[in-house]
Amino acid sequence: MPTLDRLGRPLANLRLSVTDRCNLRCSYCMPEEEYAWLPRADILSFEELARLVEVFQGIGVEKVRLTGGEPLLRRDLHVLVGLLARRGLADLALTTNGILLGEQARALKAAGLARLTVSLDTLRPECFQLLTRRDEHARVLAGLEAAHAAGFRGTKLNTVVLRGVNDDELVPLLEFGRERGLEVRFIEYMDVGGATGWRGEEVVSRAEMLARIEGSLGAVRTAPGDPSAPAERYELPDGTRFGIIASTTEPFCRSCDRSRLTADGIFYTCLYAPNGTDLRGPLRAGATNDELAARILGLWRERRDRGAEERLGLTERGTLAPASTLRTDPHLEMHTRGG
Ligand code: SF4
Repeated sequence: MPTLDRLGRPLANLRLSVTDRCNLRCSYCMPEEEYAWLPRADILSFEELARLVEVFQGIGVEKVRLTGGEPLLRRDLHVLVGLLARRGLADLALTTNGILLGEQARALKAAGLARLTVSLDTLRPECFQLLTRRDEHARVLAGLEAAHAAGFRGTKLNTVVLRGVNDDELVPLLEFGRERGLEVRFIEYMDVGGATGWRGEEVVSRAEMLARIEGSLGAVRTAPGDPSAPAERYELPDGTRFGIIASTTEPFCRSCDRSRLTADGIFYTCLYAPNGTDLRGPLRAGATNDELAARILGLWRERRDRGAEERLGLTERGTLAPASTLRTDPHLEMHTRGG
């Protein structure tokens, strides 16, 4: 029997952040000049991460996604992938900005990584530079090619849509994806920790995205998908499929089976949760798998999180936390929690 939380949601999914570092500075995630990083001594080793995944798997987690920050900045990540791939999970995936895929795609595939999601917000290098404050667009495109050459199929493209920045690229991105066998998932701009410049006016809602796509490409139909997945899937008249993640205007907390573990071993039951629970301390103090499992299960059984729904209910919606708060509590940052 799966472990259910207070709203009847199973613990089935773990997003495992392997580093809080990133090599981009996207305006919707890391817009500040300075960041407080997690102390190196606190970052879990691959063996510690694999041990915790073993514990999570023992209590129902079947799907693990490696995230960051940018996970490919973690040295020799393929070694961790190898350790996890041996565990026989139903799904082992990775979300990356793609910059380092050119160097690592082959090793990741050989180690047993099943699936990739690559963030790509624009097809225009100058827009990429503006949005990320880094000149790395060509490397991302090369990374996508390298992933295909290494044998990855069914790769997804994640695109955060911002009004006045890249919202004129919905159709070009769909065409780019169709030509390369990549399913695009448009993501509404979210007011998560780290999005210190978030403004409601810059959000392009799912309804607006669909209307714009239909206006250019014809009627869009709903396509089958995993009911617990964040993206609603759609199909164009030519059969092209894409997704929209409407976390801001139509949150999907009611079916959320995701838990999060930061690179320093803090467990979160929601992207917006104000506090997490330290698993690193007990792990390093010699806790057994059963003791760690009991701690996680106790937290999950009490889980009532509906962070995005609660944000939607606010009459005045602004940034989640100011930069000064984020500097004193970096665990509130999305790049620490793994998005
Ligand atoms: S806001 Fe929290 S509960 Fe809602 S979908 Fe996101 S992680 Fe799940």
